[in-house]
Amino acid sequence: MTHSEERDVWVVDVAPRDGLQNDPAELTVDDKVELVRRLLAAGVYRVEVGSFVSPKWVPKMADTDEVVRRLGPAAGRCTCLIPNERGYDRAVAVGLKDVRTVVAASATMNRKNFGCEPEDTLAEIGRVARRAQADGVRLWAVVATAFGCPFEGRVSLGTVLDLVRRLADLGVREVLLADTTGVAVPPQVARLCEASLSVVAGMGIQLGIHLHNTRNTGYANAFAAWQVGIRLMDASLGGIGGCPFAPRATGNIATEDLVHMLERSGIRTGIDLEALIRASDWLADRLGHGVPSLVPKAGPVPAEVYAVKGG
Ligand code: ZN
Repeated sequence: MTHSEERDVWVVDVAPRDGLQNDPAELTVDDKVELVRRLLAAGVYRVEVGSFVSPKWVPKMADTDEVVRRLGPAAGRCTCLIPNERGYDRAVAVGLKDVRTVVAASATMNRKNFGCEPEDTLAEIGRVARRAQADGVRLWAVVATAFGCPFEGRVSLGTVLDLVRRLADLGVREVLLADTTGVAVPPQVARLCEASLSVVAGMGIQLGIHLHNTRNTGYANAFAAWQVGIRLMDASLGGIGGCPFAPRATGNIATEDLVHMLERSGIRTGIDLEALIRASDWLADRLGHGVPSLVPKAGPVPAEVYAVKGG
């Protein structure tokens, strides 16, 4: 498999942010830069390089400015997480042209993440959106706990659809539905994705998903999303990750396992799986512990053994 610009699906790797943020290991700036470079070289669409939150809240992301500076022009293929306008200031100060905001579909989760109501967060996103438009910065938004909340339980379809519509109206161009704590199942993913796609139809919005594999439904969920027309997916190298504000949240779906599943299904990711596997092995070594992904352990399926005539 070779690295190619031909893609049917756009995979964003969030390991340097969502992954490392909740990992017990502390990577150096050198290691983070190397991680991002390896992911970009493998051909992932974008890398979420870090976040611009207060170091008081998430000390592990305090060096994001430095990582971006060290990446140089490669940072042009990176995005980052910003919780508010202050984070936006820091991201643009270091030259990033691509930023992600977050609002939670559950009010409790939003309070725990940002200390305010979802309405206040939307107002903040509106302010950031106006500046991003003026600055030529691409703005994404992640709808956290879109499929359920560890504190409130069920999140209504209407609440999520309303958020998606309002984010689109604010000028956000990419909206990601996030299963923050891995509670979703495939029919639910298909239903919410389909409904969201129809809400933003004709608006030029790219809708995506951000899945965690907390209960081993992440890959089935990704495929369900693909089947109803989702073409943008977050994943994390090695399947590392979590959420500092959600109890017992575990890793994102692993990029290499996702890419393996998609490519074997004839869906082009534009990503070199062998390079991802090498990067995953390197990452496990730097972290000093194993990672949850399975494809690096088993190896990719040997094509000559499993090749079936006609498919
Ligand atoms: Zn996440």
